[in-house]
Parts: sequence; structure tokens; C-alpha cells
Amino acid sequence: AEAEADYVRANPESEAQFRKAEHSLPAGNTRSSLFYGPFPLTMARGEEASLWDLDGHKYLNFLSEFTSGIFGHSHPHIVAEMRAAIGDGLNLSSHTTGEANLAAAICDRFECFDKVRLTNSGTEANIMAMVTARVVTGRDKIVVFKGGYHGGPLTFVGGASVGNVPFDFLYGRYNDLEATLTTINPHAEDIAAIVIEPVLGAGGCIPGDRAFLTGLQQWCHTKGALLIVDEVQTARHHAGGLQPVLGLKADLTTMGKFIGGCMPIGVFGGRADIMMRFDPRHPNTLAHAGTFNNNVMTMRAGLAGLTQVYTPDEAERLTALGDDFRNRLNTIAEVCGAPVHVTGVGSIMNIHTQSGPITFAEQVAQENKELKDLLFFEFLAHGIYYAKRGLVALNVCHTQVDLDRFADTFKRILTKHAPLW
Ligand code: PLP
Repeated sequence: AEAEADYVRANPESEAQFRKAEHSLPAGNTRSSLFYGPFPLTMARGEEASLWDLDGHKYLNFLSEFTSGIFGHSHPHIVAEMRAAIGDGLNLSSHTTGEANLAAAICDRFECFDKVRLTNSGTEANIMAMVTARVVTGRDKIVVFKGGYHGGPLTFVGGASVGNVPFDFLYGRYNDLEATLTTINPHAEDIAAIVIEPVLGAGGCIPGDRAFLTGLQQWCHTKGALLIVDEVQTARHHAGGLQPVLGLKADLTTMGKFIGGCMPIGVFGGRADIMMRFDPRHPNTLAHAGTFNNNVMTMRAGLAGLTQVYTPDEAERLTALGDDFRNRLNTIAEVCGAPVHVTGVGSIMNIHTQSGPITFAEQVAQENKELKDLLFFEFLAHGIYYAKRGLVALNVCHTQVDLDRFADTFKRILTKHAPLW
């Protein structure tokens, strides 16, 4: 309560802005995940890895736009491409070189893609992958996982969904092959696809167990279902995403987030024989439209991001940096004897206010919510911003000094509150 009261006192402009926005937006927001009480901060501007809020406080941004902001704020290479795109005219009403160039770069980089199609969000990409699987298999059921997240109307985390898009879902238990197979085996002939994240992202950054994931892949091959791997978050891990590292090769893969170079994007694609159904000359063609699928800003920003900034070498560097950082935070928590554990892979992690290990989605709900809030408001007071649910995502602008500052702050807060545990 004390930390929250300090927060209210320190942020009158954010509070006033929130009250104003509430007139036209429910709870002043249009992205549920950004809301928190008593009112969220409104950021005014960003530069490299820093943000400034309406009250003029400066923060290190460790939220990194829920992982899409991998380039920091307004990376010069990306800005140059976007300026050029504006100069060449927006809304060209035709095929463009931009979409072909970006698609070629994506297919070169990620071996899971023979061919791709582009959308405006990861959500759309997942919906397209699911409907495609239903059409090509002639089956109806889709297997998803409790704790999984594939977009706003495709969330299986807790009870937060507005209700899902009308698919006939079956629910597996993440990281539990036996329980999942027991649920899905009786329906094997009706299952079009299994859709899975290699790391449970919004569900708490819980890494998928290799044997679990490859077991599902094997099941799909045997039963004639498609494996759809959602790499919207994990494409940043390693040069070619997480699938090659885990021994996976999906029939269809979805991506998004950083692939758009900080502009809206989604990608779905995979096996050429499946994706060829989107050729309008195919006898059983499938239509896939979308006014902004090839908008020039995203196409050019995305290509610059992928080829000039977040190169394969940079992906390996950031992943190694993130692994070291997560280990360092866990060592601090252990030394402080705090019931805090950081999960994740590479540069995406989640602070949980409970002891580890955390392997299953339902464990996340057992955390200490008051301690979670306390950490969040204490970090803000020290000028460090991350997602209130505990998500911490690195971006290419973070320096060793920034990481040291986060780690030192973490230690200071845990030491200060040690009497609580
Ligand atoms: N899939 C995963 C794994 C995600 O983390 C997200 C977004 O956080 C999505 C899909 C949805 O992407 P978008 O927000 O672009 O619709």
C-alpha cells in the first residue's frame, strides 16, 4: 500500500491523462494487458532503451513492447527506411517490391518456411493457420494448451478471454505429454492441428520440454494432423528461431512482433504444398485478403530490422545475454532467500513471486500477488519499467550498465523486503 501511495503521489499527470482517456476508452485503454490499478503510466516518448512518462520521469524500458520492441525506440536504420517509404508514397494499391523482399528475407532466415503470407498481427496469422489446417485436413478440432496465448481472442491464460473465436478446441496440459495424449487420443481422427508455443509466453515464460514438444510432433505425423508452432515470441531466440534448436519442424508456423521492424505484422507459412493453396490459380484456391497485409511501412521497416539490425549474429548475442541475465537474477533471489523465481529463454523472461522450478501453467496462479505488485511499484520508483505480470524483455539497445542497474535494483528491493519472508 505504501509503494502504491508513493506511486500515486509521483504521477499526477499520468493520473489526469487516465481520467481523461476513461471518457472514451473503457479503463482508458485499448490494450487490456497494459492496464493496472490504480492507474497506469502514460509514456510520452522513447529513445534507445529509455522512456519518459507524462510527469517527466525517465525509465529504462524492460517491457520492450511485449517483445516487439526489440530494436529499442526509433532505431536509425529502421527510421531511414520508413522515411524512404513515405517519400515513395503510401498505399500503392498493388503488389510491391517490399512484400517480396521481406518474404524472401523471412524464408531465408527461418527454415520452417517454404512460403509465407503476411498479416497485420500475430492473432490474424494464428487464425489463418488454424483455418488453413481445417481446410487441408478436412477435420474440425484444434488442440491448444491451457496457459497458451495466440492472440486476443485466442487466449487460454487464466479466465481473461472475452471468449474465443469459434473453433472446436481440445485443451492439452503444457509440458505433460501423457495427460495431453489421454485427452486427444479419443478424438484423433477429428483433429486438424495441434497449435503450440515452444515457450509458454503470456502464460509465464515457461520453456517447453523438448521431449514433450517432439512427442506432439510425432503424434501429428502418425495421426495425420498438422503441427502449428506459434513462434510469434520465440522467433527472436537464435538465428533461425527456436524450432531447429528443439528438433521441431512444423507444418505451419506463425510469427509476428519484431518481424515488422516495430510496425504491425503477422506471418503464417510453412510447407509449400499447403501454402500453394493460396495461389489464386490453384484449382481449390483459398482466398486470403487484407488491405494492409503488404503496407509499405511495415514491409520496409521489417526488412531493415531483420537484415540490418536483428541479424542472425545479433540474435545469438541477445539470447546469450538474456540467459546470463536470467541466471544472475535467480542467483540474487536465492542469495536473498526470496520466494522469487525468473523463468524464460534467452532475452524474454518472467519474474514470478514463488519459488522455482515452474514447469506447469497452473503453478503460475499460485504466486504471491502482493509481492508481485510490490516489486513492480518498487522497480518503477527506481526508474525501471517492465510488464506488471512480470514479463521482462531485453532489446538491442540495453547495455551492460542497464542490466547491472536492473540486477542491483532487484537485489536492493529483495534485501529491503527480506523481513516479509
Ligand atoms: N502468439 C503469441 C505467442 C504471442 O505472444 C502474441 C502476442 O503477444 C500473439 C500470438 C498475438 O500477436 P499480436 O499481438 O500481434 O496479435
